[in-house]
Amino acid sequence: MMPDELVSRLAFVRERIAAAAERSGRTADAVTIVAVTKTYPAATVLSARDAGLRDVGENRVQELAEKVETVGRDAVKWHLIGHLQRNKARRAIQSFDLLHSLDSVRLARELSAAAAESAPVRTLVQVNASGEESKSGLELSELIEALGTICELPGLRVEGLMTMAPFTDDRNVVRRTFEATRRARDEAARQIPGFRGEHLSMGMSNDYEAAVEEGSTLVRLGTVLFGARPT
Ligand SMILES: *Cc1c(COP(=O)(O)O)cnc(C)c1O
Repeated sequence: MMPDELVSRLAFVRERIAAAAERSGRTADAVTIVAVTKTYPAATVLSARDAGLRDVGENRVQELAEKVETVGRDAVKWHLIGHLQRNKARRAIQSFDLLHSLDSVRLARELSAAAAESAPVRTLVQVNASGEESKSGLELSELIEALGTICELPGLRVEGLMTMAPFTDDRNVVRRTFEATRRARDEAARQIPGFRGEHLSMGMSNDYEAAVEEGSTLVRLGTVLFGARPT
């Protein structure tokens, strides 16, 4: 894709985010775009940065590490948005600024142990707010208890929740998923000391406006910025 095309797509997306933020009583600067560059070459990260994007998301540790190596650790803020295996936790924390996909207490313990040798690990906790079996993340029914445990672990900074809406054309189902996640965040912030609930990572290319209306602070956008992913 040509850089000009990215610039105009980004302008379009920013306008929509601003309008959706306004509908939720916020301003556009309350929402950060995480540009999802998975499967694209490292050069795409640089194009994104040149277009004014400062946050980049990858869903696999190996690909993240390769791009960090090529582009530079400090070139952008790196977000790991896909499932992280426990045996890769120690290595992965070198590569990301924010993990979106902490999905078990066991992984939290692993990260906590690894963090003992580094700066605090910033993370969100992924919730399966739609109840779909194929989705990873903590069930809402177990969230408060698990978060209580996770937030007591040293070396972790738990900054909010992340969710993925189900694959469906039913806008109401999508919206309910985001709304349930926001409510869970609010509830957790009331109940759990040490839980910083400032972030909600919700919304992808096909549902980011609804997500922003429901309070998202981090939208994870790939296709709408870069076009269909190379397969
Ligand atoms: C790929 C991916 C995205 C971006 O998806 P698009 O539909 O291309 O915007 C967002 N979040 C996660 C977890 C992803 O894996």
